[in-house]
Amino acid sequence: MEKRDKAQAIANSLIHHFGEPQWQPGEDAVDMLIGTILSANTNDVNSGRAFDQLRATFGHDWERVRVAPLDEIKDAIRPAGMYNQKAPHIVGALEKLWRDRGEYKLDFVADLPVEEALGYLQTFPGVGHKTASIVLLFCFNRGAFPVDTHVQRISRRLGVSARNATALAVKHEWEALLPAAQFYALHLNLIRLGREICQAREARCSLCPLQPYCDYFNRRGAWGAS
Ligand code: SF4
Repeated sequence: MEKRDKAQAIANSLIHHFGEPQWQPGEDAVDMLIGTILSANTNDVNSGRAFDQLRATFGHDWERVRVAPLDEIKDAIRPAGMYNQKAPHIVGALEKLWRDRGEYKLDFVADLPVEEALGYLQTFPGVGHKTASIVLLFCFNRGAFPVDTHVQRISRRLGVSARNATALAVKHEWEALLPAAQFYALHLNLIRLGREICQAREARCSLCPLQPYCDYFNRRGAWGAS
């Protein structure tokens, strides 16, 4: 099977199995940027709690956060962990945004070419290609494919990417194989597959709709731990 056909079959099977998540406008890009900085190396519950505490402490006012004492920000975001790094990243991001734009808005990136927008977002402290892609895809439905550990692991097992492919290589692979209009549903469905079926510790292949397209499943035995 051609790789492009395989990628399309994977996307279709996941939609058949889980449904097709529909993108909706309305996510604020600065909220998303800060929320994603908070989400590094923790789960959604903890990062969500940290974001809520940040809001409860400073209101819906990024200027108050930018000028606040760092210790107050650290206290507010403590549930997210790594607060000694995340607090300066948040302040650094807000300072950069204020310097660059004179306001706490990122809507202008929606009008940039995708690569330029990704490049700009990655100039913010604590923001790599995953966070930049999340902002572009979730806030503006632009053609950037975010790759987290679930997507990376599954893509390697499926054989869409090489077994040692970096997250960035996996991102470029999917972006070359499928139209951008499919990125949102595919990203969410791969994450759901990773949480529920193709887990890091155990690939529950007997439950998986992707068996026919999966190198790991079809060559089991030749694989070591992945
Ligand atoms: S068949 Fe198994 S290894 Fe392949 S994607 Fe599904 S759960 Fe993961």
